[in-house]
Amino acid sequence: MRIRDLPSPNHDERPAGAPVDLLILHYTGMRSGEAALARLRDPAARVSAHYVVEEDGAVFRLVPEERRAWHAGVSHWRGDTLLNGRSIGVEIVNPGHEFGYRPFPALQMAAVCDLCLEILARHPIPPRSVLAHSDVAPDRKDDPGELFDWQGLAANGVGLWPAEDGMAEGDPLRLLGAIGYRTDLPLPVLLRAFQRHWRPERVDGIADAGTLARLAAVASAAG
Ligand SMILES: [Zn+2]
Repeated sequence: MRIRDLPSPNHDERPAGAPVDLLILHYTGMRSGEAALARLRDPAARVSAHYVVEEDGAVFRLVPEERRAWHAGVSHWRGDTLLNGRSIGVEIVNPGHEFGYRPFPALQMAAVCDLCLEILARHPIPPRSVLAHSDVAPDRKDDPGELFDWQGLAANGVGLWPAEDGMAEGDPLRLLGAIGYRTDLPLPVLLRAFQRHWRPERVDGIADAGTLARLAAVASAAG
């Protein structure tokens, strides 16, 4: 695929010996793609991502994959923290919940899918480790949010989506922990993060039967 270089100064060295085994997807959460690109390349902002995908499907490379980009911030997954060192970060242009959250255009999703497939071909990133920023920072972040088509991506080989729901039983906190979420936050906060990714039709923080069944299925598939 065609990728344009638009270098950002905001990166540093990855920790020695750490594999790159997480792919973290974001939305930009700013009024425009131009504004997001400017911020992600501003040395004073101290934030970046490896790639930015515009709404028209244009893809920009800001940071080389072998360098550490600064996108995840305070983050947790499967007992590990500060995940920038082992992840690739992709920012997907969308105003986000703050500035007018709207559907991700088909052209943009197709570009995200192609880009992710290329990234996955270069690194040992299992399907269960393709994550939302909200998965790894559930108390701070909502992105890329419930309009993002995780199920469609999984159908094309990017990320995990269970073939069918499990039994609607079990302790939700234990299941969330088995998937990889930190478990020291209020349950509704964690459930909303889970729902934004794996049960987007209902983001209410409540462990109803449908959410429990999906939790069990994802925990089993991610195990
Ligand atoms: Zn983010």
